Amino acid sequence: MKVVLPDASELELPDGASGLDAARAIGPKLAEQAVLLRVDGSTRDLRLPLADGERIQILTTRDTQDEDALAVLRHSTAHLLAEAAIRLHPGVKIAIGPPIADGFYYDFEFPEPISETDLEAIEAEMRREIAEGRAWERQEIPREEAVARFEQEGEPYKVELAREAEGPISLYTQGDFTDLCRGPHLQDASPIKALKLTGLAGAYWRGDERNTQLTRIYGTAFYTQADLEAHLERLEQARARDHRRLGRDLDLFHFDEHSPGSPLWHPKGMVIYNVLEGIRRRENARRGYLEVKTPLIYDKALWVTSGHWEKFRENMFLIPGDVEDQTYGIKPMNCPGHMLLFGSELRSYRDLPIRYAEAAPLHRNEPTGTLHGLTRVRYVTQDDAHIFCTREQITEELDGCLEYLRYLYALVGMEPHAELSTRPENKLGTDEEWDFAEAELLAALERFRIPYVVGAGEGSFYGPKIDVHLTDVLGRGWQMGTIQLDQQMPARFGLTYMGPDNHEHGVYVIHRALFGSFERFIGILVEHYGGAFPFWLAPVQARIVPVGEGHREAAAELRARLEQEGFRVEVDERDDTLGKRIREAELQKVPFVIVYGDREAEAARAWRELGKQLAMRERGGEQSTVSFDELLERFRGLAAEADPA
Ligand SMILES: [Zn+2]
Ligand SMILES: [Zn+2]
Repeated sequence: MKVVLPDASELELPDGASGLDAARAIGPKLAEQAVLLRVDGSTRDLRLPLADGERIQILTTRDTQDEDALAVLRHSTAHLLAEAAIRLHPGVKIAIGPPIADGFYYDFEFPEPISETDLEAIEAEMRREIAEGRAWERQEIPREEAVARFEQEGEPYKVELAREAEGPISLYTQGDFTDLCRGPHLQDASPIKALKLTGLAGAYWRGDERNTQLTRIYGTAFYTQADLEAHLERLEQARARDHRRLGRDLDLFHFDEHSPGSPLWHPKGMVIYNVLEGIRRRENARRGYLEVKTPLIYDKALWVTSGHWEKFRENMFLIPGDVEDQTYGIKPMNCPGHMLLFGSELRSYRDLPIRYAEAAPLHRNEPTGTLHGLTRVRYVTQDDAHIFCTREQITEELDGCLEYLRYLYALVGMEPHAELSTRPENKLGTDEEWDFAEAELLAALERFRIPYVVGAGEGSFYGPKIDVHLTDVLGRGWQMGTIQLDQQMPARFGLTYMGPDNHEHGVYVIHRALFGSFERFIGILVEHYGGAFPFWLAPVQARIVPVGEGHREAAAELRARLEQEGFRVEVDERDDTLGKRIREAELQKVPFVIVYGDREAEAARAWRELGKQLAMRERGGEQSTVSFDELLERFRGLAAEADPA
């Protein structure tokens, strides 16, 4: 038989040869380093036979960043964990131990509860196993034999899994530990060069809370120590940048159990919010959007017309109406209100396009388990707009949206990329309409050279959409804005315009939110900047620290002067030492600290005449001495970055 190698060459092998045999036929070094086989895109244990004509790729210990190569390494490490847990905690029952993104876990039922401190000993035992040497042996046995074996070992979870398993039952053995497992696994433990147990959590057997609660031990493993260290460093950075933590530390917002998923914005958080709101209004006005305001609650009949009652009701908060059997829904989206606005008058082709903008509070009843800081909320405020246009105007309007999007994302130094989501199963409208709308969105992405992937079946029920994603400084992707082309909702509302031919025509709507939501966008910005916001966005742009009590008055005067110029300034009058107050301003990531002592107080009386007199510390930089005019010039320059147009 023959298999095809990645370079398209063919390899002749005896019938029934395994992946490992193929590796050996190529060379002893490859056979030694081989960890996994990829066959026509999916993975296979090296020990399993190949079939004639298969295209194979042999992954080795040098594929240190390959997701599949990492998964087999981590899954094998999970088996070492189970072996160690059984040795150190006799009587423990084992459940399952799969690889996951960034690591692996194994679920156990311990006879006595264990704590984080027990992990060290388990980790040490795993290292000992690797040092001693472990190789995996694969074996297939009849189901009844597997069930009997695990019954005898007192492993009820394995018994349950063996009973339900489809196809032949495979076992993997290393040392004196045998696990029921489909594989694949490494040949032996020598490629595991770095491992770490990272935490403990409770987890119900099969994720069902009616079942026994098990103890889940998390860990990770890598082919090199350097990769593990880089991973831990990234985790640490992510923790330090976590917007929930920074939101508290920087006094921006918090959440309260009385209203899950709904941020309480503090004054400083509200400054950031309002800066973005200012940009939204300014840029909307420049682009011919019209600000409107529409109701927050509507009766059921409206939601039936819009289609939300049928397709989105489970995510809506419903409240009883003022007469029996009447129900109101709190709006999860602005669209229906804007449909009513458009429909309130007879429209001519000369009126189009009409671009209605509204950043109203919306409520979506997300399950509490999915809520996550500002990035997954129930109270959400989109920078929303609906563009009503003719079929001929769609191209230009989509271009307008993408240009606007580019502008906003460049402002915060992030590159957008997109997912084009196409017709879902529960779509409204015909395939012809969807063909047209999908093609329009695709063409727009191509024109703007925005990199994209296609999410088949991921569109809204009323139209295809472009979901905009951002990659932050840690390389993590986030879903942000959305641009959707829709013919269904205006049709459901009977919206038309009078054409030049004196006939009524159906109108198209582009739903678009470019930040996405203020909540999510700010959450991402907090993490993106690690709380060190650029000057134009910083809640406090400068903090003045008077050296002594005698300098307070002059410091207040300087503050007033800067505030007159439109800057956001604080004076730190606390009795702490100068050093401590400067340190505190640095922790708050204030862009500028101005120290105010005798020399500066003197200067305050005659800003214009005296030369370089203000001691200014720029965040992350050195202290310098500048005149008031120089300071103003610097501040004005930085503030102007909020409006590069
Ligand atoms: Zn396994
Ligand atoms: Zn909409």
